[in-house]
Amino acid sequence: MKGRKLLMIPGPIEFEPKVLQALGAPTDSHVAPSFIETFGNSLELMRTVWQSPTGQPFIMAGSGTLAMDMAVVNLIEPNDNVLIISTGYFGERYADICKRYGANVTILTTDVGNIVSLNTIEKELSTKNYKLLTMTHVDTSTGVLVDPEPIAKLGTKYNTLTVLDGVCSVAGEEINQDYWKIDVVLTASQKAIGVPPGLALLMISEKAMGVFKNRKTPVQNYYADFTHWLPIMKAYESRNPSYFGTPPVNLIAALEVSLQHIVSEGIETRFLRHKKIATAFREAMLALGFKLLPVHKNISANTLTAVYYPEKVDGATFLKHVGNNDVILAGGLLHSHKTQYFRIGHMGSVNNNDILATIGAIESSLIACNYSFETGIGIKTALTILNN
Ligand code: PMP
Repeated sequence: MKGRKLLMIPGPIEFEPKVLQALGAPTDSHVAPSFIETFGNSLELMRTVWQSPTGQPFIMAGSGTLAMDMAVVNLIEPNDNVLIISTGYFGERYADICKRYGANVTILTTDVGNIVSLNTIEKELSTKNYKLLTMTHVDTSTGVLVDPEPIAKLGTKYNTLTVLDGVCSVAGEEINQDYWKIDVVLTASQKAIGVPPGLALLMISEKAMGVFKNRKTPVQNYYADFTHWLPIMKAYESRNPSYFGTPPVNLIAALEVSLQHIVSEGIETRFLRHKKIATAFREAMLALGFKLLPVHKNISANTLTAVYYPEKVDGATFLKHVGNNDVILAGGLLHSHKTQYFRIGHMGSVNNNDILATIGAIESSLIACNYSFETGIGIKTALTILNN
């Protein structure tokens, strides 16, 4: 589209035209039969995308932070022990949230760009009775990918509930919630789910719902309390009208369209597409002489890439040139390294052309910054992988 810049940040992303049409359609009543059907379908489609036939889905008005908040406020009680496995900014946020609700929080961290080892996690879990642990599937501040499956196994072994912050991963990175036995997988609409910002989405295991039902103290947040929302989700799923707080009707209409789109692409095909595009982009950056934040390729996310600016290239000037080349990228997020790196989102409907246009804009900007490299090497490297 002329005059339209390509939005390649790690959310919000570029959205499918059909999703945007649903968002812009006339607003239904929240108890109209057509909307009840849309809400019910969306809940059912979430189970398919999360690969969790036994989970309890929640669709809420709010951002990803509400989803993080809602997961723990319903499951922990004051003085519960909580373990945070942090790979960056969003692990720290999770520690803050849990502290706010009176949990005894232990946070495991590592060097920037690395993951906490399974040994370290197991050693900590064996020291005391942890009620719950959290892990960030893809920390959007570092582009580090954590493998949730073995951590979930440790959760089962030590009877600790497991919460996966999948805000930057659900529908982009492989997730098999029931098979991996993860108790909560949460996300937000604006990333690989492919819907403009405004929805917090959660899938809760039967085990975690049991823990919630056996609470001794009231949930410390009125709006986020499952007590209010569980009957609403159950009513919509059984195609009955219901009300607690007005649902974001248009966003849910857009969600139904996007989830249908994801399911029709095929969830495995979608993961592979993300993987291929991410690999092409990463290899292109390496060919241009950039260094990546994740310390190994096998812990690099497929939904975004975090890249250090080369020496002698000023970050702000470089990003301005990229913008002038009609591509929008994001700066750094991690406090300690904020000005040293930039981030590129490649998730949702991203295609080969988008990634090639992005690499082209990066190459043009490097030329404008007087950085010396073999012109075209990034594009050539990516093309070889994309055409394979
Ligand atoms: N967790 C992760 C991994 C995220 O990437 C984000 C958003 N960038 C959040 C949580 C918070 O989501 P939101 O900004 O929608 O509140």
